[in-house]
Amino acid sequence: MALVKSRAIVLRTYRLGETSKVVVCYTEDHGKVRLVAKGARKGGGRLGAALEPLMVSGVVFYKRPGRELSLVSQAEIEREFPALRRDVVRMAYGSVVLELVNKLVSGEEPDAALFGLVVGALEEMDGVPPAELDPALWRFELAIATALGYTPEFTRCVVCGGEPGDEPRFAPRLGGLVCRNCLATRPEIHTAGSRAAALLTCLARGEGPAPGEIAGSALSDEVAETLREFLEEHTGRQLKLKSIDFLAQVRRVEHSGTEPDRDDER
Ligand SMILES: [Zn+2]
Repeated sequence: MALVKSRAIVLRTYRLGETSKVVVCYTEDHGKVRLVAKGARKGGGRLGAALEPLMVSGVVFYKRPGRELSLVSQAEIEREFPALRRDVVRMAYGSVVLELVNKLVSGEEPDAALFGLVVGALEEMDGVPPAELDPALWRFELAIATALGYTPEFTRCVVCGGEPGDEPRFAPRLGGLVCRNCLATRPEIHTAGSRAAALLTCLARGEGPAPGEIAGSALSDEVAETLREFLEEHTGRQLKLKSIDFLAQVRRVEHSGTEPDRDDER
Protein backbone atom coordinates (compact mmCIF):
# COMPACT_ATOMS: atom_id res chain seq x y z
CA MET A 1 0.00 0.00 0.00
CA ALA A 2 1.50 3.30 -1.06
CA LEU A 3 0.50 6.85 -0.25
CA VAL A 4 0.36 8.73 -3.55
CA LYS A 5 -0.49 12.27 -4.58
CA SER A 6 -1.99 13.51 -7.82
CA ARG A 7 -4.07 16.22 -9.35
CA ALA A 8 -7.58 14.88 -9.88
CA ILE A 9 -10.72 15.92 -11.72
CA VAL A 10 -13.78 14.82 -9.75
CA LEU A 11 -16.10 13.11 -12.23
CA ARG A 12 -18.92 12.05 -9.95
CA THR A 13 -19.67 11.13 -6.38
CA TYR A 14 -22.10 8.87 -4.63
CA ARG A 15 -22.97 8.30 -1.04
CA LEU A 16 -21.47 5.57 1.05
CA GLY A 17 -23.21 4.95 4.34
CA GLU A 18 -24.32 7.89 6.43
CA THR A 19 -21.33 10.17 6.30
CA SER A 20 -18.94 9.04 3.60
CA LYS A 21 -18.85 9.18 -0.17
CA VAL A 22 -17.22 7.42 -3.07
CA VAL A 23 -15.51 9.87 -5.39
CA VAL A 24 -14.77 8.82 -8.96
CA CYS A 25 -11.79 10.81 -10.18
CA TYR A 26 -9.70 11.09 -13.30
CA THR A 27 -6.20 11.68 -11.97
CA GLU A 28 -3.16 12.98 -13.78
CA ASP A 29 -0.80 10.28 -12.52
CA HIS A 30 -3.01 7.24 -11.83
CA GLY A 31 -5.78 7.37 -14.41
CA LYS A 32 -9.32 6.76 -13.25
CA VAL A 33 -9.66 5.87 -9.58
CA ARG A 34 -12.46 5.41 -7.09
CA LEU A 35 -11.74 6.98 -3.75
CA VAL A 36 -13.51 6.62 -0.44
CA ALA A 37 -13.74 9.91 1.45
CA LYS A 38 -14.69 9.14 5.04
CA GLY A 39 -16.79 11.76 6.75
CA ALA A 40 -16.87 13.89 3.60
CA ARG A 41 -20.65 14.20 3.55
CA LYS A 42 -21.41 15.19 7.12
CA GLY A 43 -19.74 18.56 7.65
CA GLY A 44 -16.95 17.34 5.43
CA GLY A 45 -15.08 20.63 5.57
CA ARG A 46 -12.16 21.04 3.21
CA LEU A 47 -12.04 17.39 2.24
CA GLY A 48 -15.71 17.38 1.26
CA ALA A 49 -15.49 20.68 -0.60
CA ALA A 50 -12.48 19.53 -2.61
CA LEU A 51 -14.23 16.34 -3.67
CA GLU A 52 -17.20 17.81 -5.48
CA PRO A 53 -17.74 17.33 -9.23
CA LEU A 54 -16.36 20.07 -11.51
CA MET A 55 -13.31 20.59 -9.28
CA VAL A 56 -9.66 20.00 -9.91
CA SER A 57 -8.10 19.03 -6.61
CA GLY A 58 -4.82 17.78 -5.29
CA VAL A 59 -5.60 14.43 -3.65
CA VAL A 60 -3.49 12.15 -1.48
CA PHE A 61 -4.70 8.57 -1.22
CA TYR A 62 -3.62 5.08 -0.28
CA LYS A 63 -3.17 3.17 -3.48
CA ARG A 64 -3.68 -0.57 -3.21
CA PRO A 65 -3.00 -2.40 -6.45
CA GLY A 66 -5.92 -4.49 -7.61
CA ARG A 67 -8.37 -2.93 -5.19
CA GLU A 68 -11.51 -1.25 -6.42
CA LEU A 69 -11.50 1.52 -3.80
CA SER A 70 -8.72 3.60 -2.31
CA LEU A 71 -8.95 5.65 0.87
CA VAL A 72 -8.44 9.43 0.60
CA SER A 73 -6.13 10.94 3.15
CA GLN A 74 -6.16 14.59 1.99
CA ALA A 75 -7.75 16.71 -0.71
CA GLU A 76 -7.38 20.37 -1.49
CA ILE A 77 -9.00 22.46 -4.19
CA GLU A 78 -6.48 23.45 -6.86
CA ARG A 79 -8.75 24.85 -9.47
CA GLU A 80 -12.36 25.96 -9.33
CA PHE A 81 -14.55 26.94 -12.24
CA PRO A 82 -16.91 29.49 -10.71
CA ALA A 83 -19.11 30.05 -13.75
CA LEU A 84 -19.58 26.28 -14.17
CA ARG A 85 -20.98 26.05 -10.67
CA ARG A 86 -23.10 29.18 -10.86
CA ASP A 87 -24.64 29.02 -14.34
CA VAL A 88 -26.92 26.03 -14.98
CA VAL A 89 -26.25 26.09 -18.74
CA ARG A 90 -22.49 25.98 -18.31
CA MET A 91 -22.88 23.36 -15.59
CA ALA A 92 -24.83 21.20 -18.05
CA TYR A 93 -22.00 21.40 -20.58
CA GLY A 94 -19.37 20.70 -17.94
CA SER A 95 -21.40 17.69 -16.79
CA VAL A 96 -21.39 16.27 -20.33
CA VAL A 97 -17.58 16.55 -20.38
CA LEU A 98 -17.32 14.72 -17.03
CA GLU A 99 -19.80 12.00 -18.00
CA LEU A 100 -18.03 11.38 -21.31
CA VAL A 101 -14.73 10.93 -19.48
CA ASN A 102 -16.40 8.63 -16.94
CA LYS A 103 -17.95 6.49 -19.68
CA LEU A 104 -15.08 6.44 -22.16
CA VAL A 105 -12.05 6.18 -19.90
CA SER A 106 -11.39 3.17 -17.76
CA GLY A 107 -8.37 1.79 -16.03
CA GLU A 108 -5.50 3.33 -14.18
CA GLU A 109 -3.24 4.15 -17.14
CA PRO A 110 -2.02 7.69 -16.58
CA ASP A 111 -2.38 10.00 -19.57
CA ALA A 112 -1.23 13.53 -18.79
CA ALA A 113 -2.28 14.76 -22.24
CA LEU A 114 -5.83 13.51 -21.76
CA PHE A 115 -5.88 15.02 -18.27
CA GLY A 116 -4.85 18.36 -19.76
CA LEU A 117 -7.49 18.03 -22.44
CA VAL A 118 -10.26 17.58 -19.86
CA VAL A 119 -9.07 20.50 -17.72
CA GLY A 120 -8.85 22.62 -20.89
CA ALA A 121 -12.41 21.69 -21.84
CA LEU A 122 -13.71 22.67 -18.38
CA GLU A 123 -11.82 25.98 -18.66
CA GLU A 124 -13.53 26.61 -21.98
CA MET A 125 -16.97 25.74 -20.61
CA ASP A 126 -16.28 28.14 -17.75
CA GLY A 127 -15.15 31.04 -19.86
CA VAL A 128 -16.29 31.06 -23.49
CA PRO A 129 -19.25 33.20 -24.64
CA PRO A 130 -22.51 31.19 -24.52
CA ALA A 131 -22.67 30.73 -28.31
CA GLU A 132 -19.28 28.99 -28.18
CA LEU A 133 -20.37 26.28 -25.73
CA ASP A 134 -21.56 23.85 -28.40
CA PRO A 135 -18.46 24.18 -30.60
CA ALA A 136 -16.27 23.81 -27.50
CA LEU A 137 -18.07 20.57 -26.57
CA TRP A 138 -17.78 19.24 -30.14
CA ARG A 139 -14.05 20.03 -30.29
CA PHE A 140 -13.67 18.18 -26.99
CA GLU A 141 -15.54 15.15 -28.35
CA LEU A 142 -13.28 15.03 -31.41
CA ALA A 143 -10.19 15.50 -29.25
CA ILE A 144 -11.10 12.80 -26.72
CA ALA A 145 -11.77 10.37 -29.59
CA THR A 146 -8.29 11.11 -30.93
CA ALA A 147 -6.72 10.84 -27.47
CA LEU A 148 -8.33 7.40 -27.04
CA GLY A 149 -7.01 6.21 -30.41
CA TYR A 150 -10.11 6.69 -32.56
CA THR A 151 -8.92 9.61 -34.68
CA PRO A 152 -11.62 10.58 -37.16
CA GLU A 153 -10.43 10.80 -40.78
CA PHE A 154 -10.78 14.22 -42.38
CA THR A 155 -7.96 14.18 -44.94
CA ARG A 156 -9.09 11.39 -47.25
CA CYS A 157 -12.15 9.36 -48.12
CA VAL A 158 -12.55 6.39 -45.72
CA VAL A 159 -13.94 4.19 -48.54
CA CYS A 160 -11.54 4.72 -51.49
CA GLY A 161 -8.64 6.42 -49.69
CA GLY A 162 -8.63 9.24 -52.25
CA GLU A 163 -9.03 12.98 -51.83
CA PRO A 164 -12.35 13.83 -50.17
CA GLY A 165 -13.04 16.26 -53.03
CA ASP A 166 -15.90 18.76 -53.09
CA GLU A 167 -18.69 18.55 -50.54
CA PRO A 168 -17.81 15.21 -48.98
CA ARG A 169 -20.09 13.81 -46.31
CA PHE A 170 -19.19 12.37 -42.93
CA ALA A 171 -19.97 8.73 -42.13
CA PRO A 172 -19.95 8.36 -38.33
CA ARG A 173 -19.85 4.56 -38.40
CA LEU A 174 -16.95 4.50 -40.88
CA GLY A 175 -15.16 7.18 -38.89
CA GLY A 176 -14.56 9.88 -41.47
CA LEU A 177 -15.27 11.67 -44.71
CA VAL A 178 -16.76 9.90 -47.72
CA CYS A 179 -16.27 11.37 -51.22
CA ARG A 180 -19.17 11.93 -53.56
CA ASN A 181 -18.05 9.21 -55.98
CA CYS A 182 -18.10 6.56 -53.27
CA LEU A 183 -21.43 7.74 -51.98
CA ALA A 184 -22.88 7.51 -55.51
CA THR A 185 -21.92 3.83 -55.71
CA ARG A 186 -22.77 3.05 -52.09
CA PRO A 187 -25.84 5.09 -51.24
CA GLU A 188 -26.57 2.81 -48.28
CA ILE A 189 -23.73 4.40 -46.30
CA HIS A 190 -25.26 6.41 -43.50
CA THR A 191 -23.83 9.93 -43.51
CA ALA A 192 -24.35 13.39 -42.14
CA GLY A 193 -24.85 16.09 -44.76
CA SER A 194 -22.07 18.05 -46.43
CA ARG A 195 -22.58 21.15 -44.25
CA ALA A 196 -22.22 19.05 -41.11
CA ALA A 197 -19.14 17.39 -42.64
CA ALA A 198 -17.60 20.79 -43.43
CA LEU A 199 -18.26 21.99 -39.91
CA LEU A 200 -16.77 18.84 -38.36
CA THR A 201 -13.67 19.28 -40.54
CA CYS A 202 -13.24 22.84 -39.22
CA LEU A 203 -13.80 21.73 -35.64
CA ALA A 204 -11.19 19.00 -35.97
CA ARG A 205 -8.69 21.71 -36.95
CA GLY A 206 -9.58 23.57 -33.77
CA GLU A 207 -11.65 26.10 -35.68
CA GLY A 208 -15.37 26.54 -35.53
CA PRO A 209 -18.42 28.31 -36.84
CA ALA A 210 -18.72 32.06 -36.46
CA PRO A 211 -20.12 32.80 -32.99
CA GLY A 212 -23.84 32.22 -32.90
CA GLU A 213 -23.92 31.16 -36.55
CA ILE A 214 -25.60 27.83 -35.96
CA ALA A 215 -26.83 28.02 -32.36
CA GLY A 216 -30.11 26.14 -31.97
CA SER A 217 -30.27 25.18 -35.67
CA ALA A 218 -30.98 21.80 -37.26
CA LEU A 219 -27.32 21.75 -38.35
CA SER A 220 -26.30 22.09 -34.74
CA ASP A 221 -28.44 19.05 -33.80
CA GLU A 222 -27.04 17.08 -36.73
CA VAL A 223 -23.43 17.75 -35.71
CA ALA A 224 -24.17 16.82 -32.09
CA GLU A 225 -25.91 13.56 -33.06
CA THR A 226 -23.23 12.64 -35.59
CA LEU A 227 -20.47 13.06 -33.03
CA ARG A 228 -22.34 10.98 -30.45
CA GLU A 229 -22.90 8.24 -33.04
CA PHE A 230 -19.22 8.34 -34.05
CA LEU A 231 -18.09 8.03 -30.42
CA GLU A 232 -20.52 5.18 -29.69
CA GLU A 233 -19.50 3.23 -32.75
CA HIS A 234 -15.78 3.54 -32.26
CA THR A 235 -15.52 3.22 -28.50
CA GLY A 236 -18.08 0.42 -28.34
CA ARG A 237 -19.81 2.21 -25.48
CA GLN A 238 -23.44 3.13 -25.26
CA LEU A 239 -23.49 6.81 -24.48
CA LYS A 240 -26.95 7.26 -23.04
CA LEU A 241 -25.72 10.17 -21.00
CA LYS A 242 -27.98 11.58 -18.31
CA SER A 243 -26.10 14.84 -18.70
CA ILE A 244 -27.10 15.02 -22.38
CA ASP A 245 -30.78 14.82 -21.42
CA PHE A 246 -30.22 17.52 -18.86
CA LEU A 247 -28.41 19.67 -21.42
CA ALA A 248 -31.26 19.18 -23.91
CA GLN A 249 -33.77 20.38 -21.29
CA VAL A 250 -31.67 23.40 -20.44
CA ARG A 251 -31.30 24.24 -24.14
CA ARG A 252 -35.05 23.99 -24.71
CA VAL A 253 -35.65 26.52 -21.97
CA GLU A 254 -32.92 28.79 -23.38
CA HIS A 255 -34.28 28.73 -26.90
CA SER A 256 -37.98 28.89 -26.08
CA GLY A 257 -37.52 32.39 -24.69
CA THR A 258 -39.71 31.58 -21.69
CA GLU A 259 -36.99 32.77 -19.39
CA PRO A 260 -36.00 36.42 -19.16
CA ASP A 261 -32.62 37.21 -20.64
CA ARG A 262 -29.97 36.15 -18.25
CA ASP A 263 -27.34 38.71 -17.35
CA ASP A 264 -24.09 37.19 -18.40
CA GLU A 265 -22.39 37.03 -15.05
CA ARG A 266 -18.67 37.50 -15.20
ZN1 LIG B 1 -14.15 7.76 -51.97
